[in-house]
Amino acid sequence: MGEQSRREFMKSCLYAAISGFGAAYLSLFSRGRGQAHTNPFHHLMNRGADGGAAAKTALDFEPAYMRMHENGELRKRGEELWNIMKSCRLCPRECDVNRLQGNEGFCQASSQLEIASFHPHFGEERSLVGSGGSGTVFFTNCGLRCVFCINWEISQGGQGKSRSIEDLATMMLKLQEIGCHNINVVTPTHYSPHIVLAVDMAAAKGLRLPIVYNTCGWERLEILTMFDGIVDIYLPDFKYSDGTMAAKYSSAARSYPDRTKTALLEMHRQVGVAKPAADGLMYRGLMIRHLVMPNRVGGSREVIAWIAENLPQDTYLNIMSQYRPMYKAFDYPEISRRITREEYAEVVDGARKAGLTNLDIQGYSF
Ligand code: SF4
Repeated sequence: MGEQSRREFMKSCLYAAISGFGAAYLSLFSRGRGQAHTNPFHHLMNRGADGGAAAKTALDFEPAYMRMHENGELRKRGEELWNIMKSCRLCPRECDVNRLQGNEGFCQASSQLEIASFHPHFGEERSLVGSGGSGTVFFTNCGLRCVFCINWEISQGGQGKSRSIEDLATMMLKLQEIGCHNINVVTPTHYSPHIVLAVDMAAAKGLRLPIVYNTCGWERLEILTMFDGIVDIYLPDFKYSDGTMAAKYSSAARSYPDRTKTALLEMHRQVGVAKPAADGLMYRGLMIRHLVMPNRVGGSREVIAWIAENLPQDTYLNIMSQYRPMYKAFDYPEISRRITREEYAEVVDGARKAGLTNLDIQGYSF
């Protein structure tokens, strides 16, 4: 999350605190747009010069989950995921704890859903933000637990409130109502059963936005295959190429590179290459994020080489420049500073030389 997006996030939290949970989204929306749309697809009908193509995209779009909702498969899939919490193996930690009995795993989550905030987010990728924002839901807790996490209060500090699955479905519908272009579930893995069941409920009440699965990338293949036909856009990190680094900075997650590579291949198989539609918005595809870290800690060169060799050359890759030391990062001198202009340029140059053509390159804001 960059400086700008963090400011947006902090403002959002402030609005939520002042306005109360139910009214938070309206306060946020009125800041930038004056009034809420009553038609959830109003923003998709604002077509501009290339009206024909954009209109076709907006009117033709149907989220992947609709077919599964209509034939009852979506609820069934949610219940299957729910039952996995009896001996939880939703993520590669494979804790085997019974979350349904109130026990917590490494992620600190029981089966009780906890959410820190929901709001339109204007700091995400341009094709997700559009004019109405990406409809983000920030989930409390995390299975990866990085020492440099910028959202550590939420992911590791327990910030958030207990919510029901019905509450989550209502949030999704509110985000659609106020003009967001997608439902962006942030750090979703440990609450994936709740999310799938909420999407099923919300779809019955008119949810038609694509689901953005915004994950650290460290996923189990067996769980990812259960999202096939549900998720439209995968937004995974690819943080490290070296398991030693993953183990050091992400709570002994030595399997991170191997698990993430397998996950990326599966995500690509499900949704393909991400390309914005004629209206500039993303509706489907794999969008990879790589955060450039100081002193080549992330192994950017190897990350890029693997993508270039194993996925199409036009695979979307956001090369992120906004690393800054947070949380426990100051305990590790090699990651206790921001990156330099030269470090970022080296990675961008390497991606171009590797032949990657669908790069999201950020300004040198450091
Ligand atoms: S989701 Fe949580 S409880 Fe389940 S395996 Fe992962 S860390 Fe353990």
